[in-house]
Amino acid sequence: MPEPTVYTAEQHKIDPALIDKHGVSVVESLHEAGFEAYLVGGCVRDLLLGAEPKDFDVATSATPEEVKQTFKRARLVGRRFRIAHVRFGRNIIEVSTFRRGETDGIETDSDGMILRDNQYGTLEQDAFRRDFTVNALYYDPTTGELFDYVNGMADLEKQHLAFIGDTQTRINEDPVRALRALRFRAKLGFEIAEEIKALLPDAANRLTSIPPARLFEEFNKLFMLGYAESAWMTLADTPICSVLFPCTDPLSTIVRAAMANTDRRIQAGKPVTPGFLIAVMLWEDYRARFSEFSLDHSPAESASMAEQDTLADQMDVMAIPRRFSLFAREVWHMQSKLENRNARNVRRTASHARFRAGYDLLELRAKTYEEQVETYEWWSRFQDVSEDEQQAMIKELPGGGKRKRKRKRKKPASAQASEQPT
Ligand code: ATP
Ligand code: MG
Repeated sequence: MPEPTVYTAEQHKIDPALIDKHGVSVVESLHEAGFEAYLVGGCVRDLLLGAEPKDFDVATSATPEEVKQTFKRARLVGRRFRIAHVRFGRNIIEVSTFRRGETDGIETDSDGMILRDNQYGTLEQDAFRRDFTVNALYYDPTTGELFDYVNGMADLEKQHLAFIGDTQTRINEDPVRALRALRFRAKLGFEIAEEIKALLPDAANRLTSIPPARLFEEFNKLFMLGYAESAWMTLADTPICSVLFPCTDPLSTIVRAAMANTDRRIQAGKPVTPGFLIAVMLWEDYRARFSEFSLDHSPAESASMAEQDTLADQMDVMAIPRRFSLFAREVWHMQSKLENRNARNVRRTASHARFRAGYDLLELRAKTYEEQVETYEWWSRFQDVSEDEQQAMIKELPGGGKRKRKRKRKKPASAQASEQPT
């Protein structure tokens, strides 16, 4: 059995003030119940970097059932791996049982139940089945000792992202690890090991066999945690980008701007939704398809077919929950509503649930492509001025002079598209 290098509190200098008290209490309770338990993974890595971890994970010798017996409030979750969630108000501590890796010669076992039980392992095995060396450090908050089986401390020092063990094997076992490399590069600014870089094309091909729902989880981790622009720039530079986002130009300036925008919103404590990013990432593709369909279909039909096809091609790879695909559609519809304003529809447009998100895309279009600049300025002003001034602005619009309803409406083509129900 390999011996870990043990670092004391004086050596690793983790600031105890950054450690979540619930994480510590879960470790203590497991110790009291006679089990081994450590903080592990991203939280230890972030603590060593002096950053406040976003969540705390615990690894233990207790099985999920034993964890459940130890904590009344534990809930067992997970399909691929059963883990326990111990809840303290809104704070959830994830407790996972030591496991052995997929290449420990157990996958040939034919009995499903035993296979699963056999996957539990020792602390050492748990360390070696983790992805990056910097993610496999174990910290005992009760003694302050840190255990390193894989030279993770050295790599952390070098800001180096390397897999534990053979790179090709680790990619074969789980190609999502390549995507995780890009994510940690973006989040931490670490360098990716050359061996991993060399296998990115191979990993890209393998990612097509990953369940779309899991890739949507990764999407959220990449872009919804405050380092979206950096994650996008990292991803856009690799062959993984066009596999994951077949309808998005890796060089798109509007996508980059949307990512930066998302980061700023998170920084400012404003709400963000994957629906908006999806709308922007697929916008150019949607619009190109719309133009093509428009050659021999009505605007309404063209819009509907373009939405359908754009979303379907993306969802072949990555699942998009319905509420977010609907959000994207509404943001696209909102573009023509914003563009084709007249005295009758302006108020309705402004009070639409997607007005703000639609306006945000309009702003990105105006600022990155210099298109619809006048429209964007009009709406900016409209939101800024008093009710009376708004009324005056509306009067200037087509149909603003006469308040009478017209019998025969003749709208510009794109306005018709905008009136389609979503
Ligand atoms: P973050 O700060 O973004 O949460 P993290 O390192 O904690 O980063 P998680 O996805 O929360 O990332 O995973 C927790 C830990 O589980 C990782 O640090 C790693 O040790 C292990 N792990 C996660 N995914 C994999 C994987 N695909 N293969 C091997 N180990 C993994
Ligand atoms: Mg984590």
